[in-house]
Amino acid sequence: MPPRTCALCSTNRAMLKRPKTGQQICRECFFYVFETELFKPGDRVAIGASGGKDSTVLAYVMKTLNERYNYGLELFLLSIDEGITGYRDDSLETVKRNQQQYSMPLKILSYDELYGWTMDAIVSQVGRKNNCTFCGVFRRQALDRGASMLGVDHIVTGHNADDIAETVLMNIMRGDIARLGRCTSICTQGEDTIKRSKPFKYAYEKEIVMYAYFKKLDYFSTECIYSPDAYRGHARVFLKDLEAARPSAIIDIIHSGEAFEIREEVKATQKVQQTCKRCGYMSSNDLCKACTLLEGLERGMAQAGITDRGRKKLESEGPAPENLRTIPFYQPPSAGNAAILLEAP
Ligand code: SF4
Ligand code: ZN
Ligand code: ZN
Repeated sequence: MPPRTCALCSTNRAMLKRPKTGQQICRECFFYVFETELFKPGDRVAIGASGGKDSTVLAYVMKTLNERYNYGLELFLLSIDEGITGYRDDSLETVKRNQQQYSMPLKILSYDELYGWTMDAIVSQVGRKNNCTFCGVFRRQALDRGASMLGVDHIVTGHNADDIAETVLMNIMRGDIARLGRCTSICTQGEDTIKRSKPFKYAYEKEIVMYAYFKKLDYFSTECIYSPDAYRGHARVFLKDLEAARPSAIIDIIHSGEAFEIREEVKATQKVQQTCKRCGYMSSNDLCKACTLLEGLERGMAQAGITDRGRKKLESEGPAPENLRTIPFYQPPSAGNAAILLEAP
């Protein structure tokens, strides 16, 4: 049998089969795909920037490495303004200083402009329980929408090892198999989603704090006034206790999370990805989570997006009114829609 030729360059002899894609490729092409998997020259990369230590260190390190190793990346700061008076307004001032310090363009997208609701308004309706559910769902979608407006290929976020270990624990405790599978991957990309990655997946929070301290980076260190979910709080305390007893606990939990495999029968029961009928964002149901939560808020039944009972109650009130406020239709990223509206430096 003649030797196979490389599936990528169709010239050289294939030397290996990539486990991930099954492609037979040559040595040179292997080096190239392996080295450029995370970033390639000319990539437009948005750094999810909150002004906190993790994303500030991330912005600094991305800029430093980009210059030191000539990655050739175009870097942007992308901030989401949740509308939390006394917290996000101050931290955004930090991001604006980072914009100057690192000479990076900055885009700020607010919940108010996207959803018509600030977190302050949401908390005044839903109280201090479940507020982080709204905030988390809205932030995820806002980041994708902001990235799409910037026409970027890739979003990087400052999640550190402690955050990921915490999420692994929470997903185990909730039995959320789909999320457990996803939460430990460094990089995720669906078919029409923007690539997301967490370069600090293995960096301990302690090291990030030390790096920021020694480098004298300008970051904002106040906690959100609507402190995180009690549930995440418990996972955090538990993790800190474990770490005190055995510092490798954090990395061990991440490794365990990575080692879980989902059985084929379970995979088969998972919902397929589609797009939201109302706003075009990806969703596993007719309506995406953000549209469901927004409808609940708009109709004064915030529980509708949280509990099944709430949802049934909303449905029993009849269909959504014609004039219901909705989220603007999502334009998946394409070179053509890079309408860039940046904050003036
Ligand atoms: Fe949002 Fe909750 Fe985080 Fe505050 S603690 S920013 S409400 S997710
Ligand atoms: Zn080749
Ligand atoms: Zn939607």
